Amino acid sequence: MNNKHSIFPKKLKLDTPDIFTYSESNSNNASQQHDEDGDDHVFTGIETPLRSDAFDKTDEQKIAEIEGHFKSIMEILGLDLSDDSLMGTPHRVAKMYVKEIFSGLNPYNKPSIKLFDNKYKYNEMLVEKDISFFSNCEHHFVPIIGKAHVAYVSSGKVIGLSKLNRIVEYYSKRPQVQERLTIQIAEEIKKAVASDHVAVVIEATHLCVSSRGVRDTSSSTVTSSYSGKFENEKVREEFLSYIY
Ligand SMILES: [Zn+2]
Repeated sequence: MNNKHSIFPKKLKLDTPDIFTYSESNSNNASQQHDEDGDDHVFTGIETPLRSDAFDKTDEQKIAEIEGHFKSIMEILGLDLSDDSLMGTPHRVAKMYVKEIFSGLNPYNKPSIKLFDNKYKYNEMLVEKDISFFSNCEHHFVPIIGKAHVAYVSSGKVIGLSKLNRIVEYYSKRPQVQERLTIQIAEEIKKAVASDHVAVVIEATHLCVSSRGVRDTSSSTVTSSYSGKFENEKVREEFLSYIY
């Protein structure tokens, strides 16, 4: 497969080479090194790192266990769990993790895609832009808030428009790094529409960058994936002209 996945700052030219940054600290302290790697948002692979026993437990078992652990975290922080306002928090957080913001870890929640024949013989690109999403940074567990722009050119089959939103939503409901989210969405759309002509651009703000750490509230991160016809500069420019 001949894919082009890249991450580049918003203002750079389109033909900017792929840029990935890695920490070069000489620290011997493993924990401190991991802190720094986390802030640099090192990306290790396309697949979400999951253990083989990831779904041995039911959602209900997971919620009960996380509730207990989150209660401990709150207690260690010194919070009084007998207070009416805090009492229900461990259960709420546990349920939110499993059923909402990390529900995309479970393949059972993957949207089912139905393919339709391309009856209108529409052979130009189809662009679905400004798909808003909420994800969470896997290095800090705080929100990533962004928009995805996706496009494909039919190879004879089409899917319902809302399915494109569903695919973005499914992969964003995981602990994520933006590069992986971009590639996972692109690969899933390729499979869904049975076409290699797929483009994905994601622009997002990371709360781990804006609300803590370097506290930069104005920067955003742009990532992209182009394959098939979208590797052609003219086709890519047409796509970008629709979204910017
Ligand atoms: Zn982060």
